[in-house]
Amino acid sequence: MEIYLDNAATTKPFREVTDAMQPYIGDEYGNPSTIYAIGRRARKALDDARDKVADILGVKSMEVIFCSGATESICTSLIGVALETVDDRKRFVTTTIEHHAVLETAHWLEKYLGWDVTLISPKPGGHVDANEFIDACTDRCGLASLQWVNNEIGTIQPVEEIASKLADTPTVFHTDIVQGIGKMRIDIDGSGIDMASASGHKFYGPKGVGITYIREGSVKLCPLIVGGGQELERRAGTENVTGCVGLAKALNILASGRDSLSERLKELMSRFIQVLDRAGVEYEINGTGPKVHGIVNFFFPGIESESMLLHADRAGVFISAGSACSSGTTQPSYVIAAMGHNKMRGLCSVRISLGWHNTVEEVEEGAKRISEIAIKLRGST
Ligand code: PLP
Repeated sequence: MEIYLDNAATTKPFREVTDAMQPYIGDEYGNPSTIYAIGRRARKALDDARDKVADILGVKSMEVIFCSGATESICTSLIGVALETVDDRKRFVTTTIEHHAVLETAHWLEKYLGWDVTLISPKPGGHVDANEFIDACTDRCGLASLQWVNNEIGTIQPVEEIASKLADTPTVFHTDIVQGIGKMRIDIDGSGIDMASASGHKFYGPKGVGITYIREGSVKLCPLIVGGGQELERRAGTENVTGCVGLAKALNILASGRDSLSERLKELMSRFIQVLDRAGVEYEINGTGPKVHGIVNFFFPGIESESMLLHADRAGVFISAGSACSSGTTQPSYVIAAMGHNKMRGLCSVRISLGWHNTVEEVEEGAKRISEIAIKLRGST
């Protein structure tokens, strides 16, 4: 039996999602920008999807822009705002534990637009201090970005507190909601958030489609993709109607099932941990304090994550690690390093992320196989 425990990387779409998408892959292939019947039906599907997403996020439909995914959304949001920012505000504040989509965009702003970038590090538990972040935004800061939930360790960041305090300042505040949406209630209305980015495939929707929230009136954005004027001239190109329908369907299912899912993930993760404990596996959990249920990052002393991942794969268990292999050497996880841990801990940590489709049987069997690998590898160090 193959066991998928990497739901923070991507998720299996809900059956209802693939069913809802089916007509738009086939017979309902109209272009939503055309005015005849088949095009009007595609437009209606797209408008309905946008309305659904807007309703769930507590925003206006015209504030939701569909795109190819969170990476595009993040680049468009940050670079698009930067291109419209006046010279004396060319400072970007973000954190050392953002996803690469944000961190690489920060480098891009430095390199190509000459921006100053301030990176705030988290406290040892993996949370950014809200006051430190806000203080950094007081001086000439035109743009700031903070993730809702960290993708490696699951910590919930103080986005709402920061957004409300920055609401009446000239700083445009963007949040990466990729790992928060579908797992927690995200209500943007009245929050002070100016922009937000998400990807459908992280919450049981399809790949290749995402959303950008752009608050009406508060954000001046230079579009990066220009052409046919689609998406209110903020993202040109014929829309991925099939993907948008699927994304909205997934979000709609989660809007009512999110709380029970969260409870179930908590229960499943505690079963996973019980199996490790019963087997006597040596581990510590990275990150403390407020976290989403379902993402846990385990430090297995003396066991390099690369080795653990390889053995797990052979045993049919799919998990991942924040450490990355480049030019033949494995780099420790930058998130775990930013929390103040040593290189060894960053090299010996793996992420288990559970999802809607995981069963008790799978999770316990997955934990049993991981335990066996951990004990074997620990014995050989
Ligand atoms: N932000 C976070 C927190 C993520 O976890 C990811 C993907 O892992 C992204 C952004 C980028 O998402 P995508 O690859 O779907 O564009």
